[in-house]
Amino acid sequence: MANSNGYTAEIMRVYRGTCIHSTQHTAVEILEDALLGVDVKGKIAFIEKDSELDGLSEKFGFSPSEITQLAQHEFFMPGMVDTHIHASQYSYAGTALDMPLMQWLCTYTFPVESRFKDLEFAQRVYTKVVKRTLRNGTTTACYHATIHTDATLLLGQIANDLGQRALVGKVCMDRNNPAKYYKETCQESQEETCRFIAELLDKKYPLVKPVVTPRFAPTCTGALLGQLGAIAKNNNLHIQSHISENAEEIKLVKDLFPESKSYTDVYHKHNLLTDKTVMAHGCHLTDEELTLFRETGTSLSHCPNSNISLCSGVLNVRNVLNHKVKLGLGTDVAGGYSASILDALRRALDSSKILTIQDPGHETLTFEEAFRIATLGGSQALSLDDQTGNFEVGKDFDALRVNVTAPGGPIDLIQSDGPKILLEKFLNLGDDRNIVEVFVAGRKVVPFTEPKPE
Ligand SMILES: [Zn+2]
Repeated sequence: MANSNGYTAEIMRVYRGTCIHSTQHTAVEILEDALLGVDVKGKIAFIEKDSELDGLSEKFGFSPSEITQLAQHEFFMPGMVDTHIHASQYSYAGTALDMPLMQWLCTYTFPVESRFKDLEFAQRVYTKVVKRTLRNGTTTACYHATIHTDATLLLGQIANDLGQRALVGKVCMDRNNPAKYYKETCQESQEETCRFIAELLDKKYPLVKPVVTPRFAPTCTGALLGQLGAIAKNNNLHIQSHISENAEEIKLVKDLFPESKSYTDVYHKHNLLTDKTVMAHGCHLTDEELTLFRETGTSLSHCPNSNISLCSGVLNVRNVLNHKVKLGLGTDVAGGYSASILDALRRALDSSKILTIQDPGHETLTFEEAFRIATLGGSQALSLDDQTGNFEVGKDFDALRVNVTAPGGPIDLIQSDGPKILLEKFLNLGDDRNIVEVFVAGRKVVPFTEPKPE
């Protein structure tokens, strides 16, 4: 499409149809008969009412005949954000859910993660997990890999090639007495983290960035935590880890770091709580710890499938929101058995309802709030909300084209329902069959057919 104006962006595509997203003020905003324009850089150039067509086509230089019309039961929603997923653990997703965290790590996780020094194995698993999550509508993923630098670089390359926005972390751990075969020395961990960051940044992938990744306090010495805090600060990088997942782990941290006031204080002391930090779980955080999260800008990744599957705990999301802590959803594959954020959203609602069963005074999470947490909330939790999370003009077009009545799909419509009902049905009943197209920064990444644009 031609550009009729010297300073408006050149338009790549224009869609007409229903767009549903969240804003800071509205958990579900529905724009029917909207016109949405994506520019050649993959950014949202405009989102306006259909009545503005003449002005828009003149300003942006497109012809109404070039507009792609969404069907009656279709809508666009923002791509979903998985704020916590172990790409390496995808190989055993759907199994091994019969133990609590610490035993589970030693029995299932460490033996599998140690296999990722084999790059062929890594290639196989990482290709599958990136494709599976993309197909399920995860346009942004925050990945833990393993301690192996080269395999983790490979994960970054695969995410880039398949077009997923990703934060990718080489796992750091210099303390692991129960599984001594799977750990590094403090110096190795620090040096390899620096090599990983330098080599990944050197690739200049537009959407894939490194994230500093101490596994969690029980497997890291204070010396390593301190060095990782400094590396993140000096390079202005994201940080991810785990916190306060189950009772045994919290006790262990208390024993290992007796000088710290709390689990949160361990990370805080080592400069690991910043406005680019995301911590998984937090089921048992105290109000005081949540306040420290807010003060430092640290966010939480809520991983309800994992929390239930490993009998870890039930996060009180309402309390987190009341503390104004940034919150996203995580699948936590493979402690969580599903790689789909739709599953995480449903488990988040279930978990909130369990709290209401226990205490009828508890204010249950609504599906509208869960939708926001899965999209805009996730982007805020990863401090990527200037680029993605909703359909604000200027952000990247990260979107799912949802067809509620996709042939062979899981949803039956009995009557003609409005768009909010269609959204609710999709969130509760839908799956990847309903996600007919996925876009990341304007590039169509699902179906996996479109060649990579230059
Ligand atoms: Zn995890």
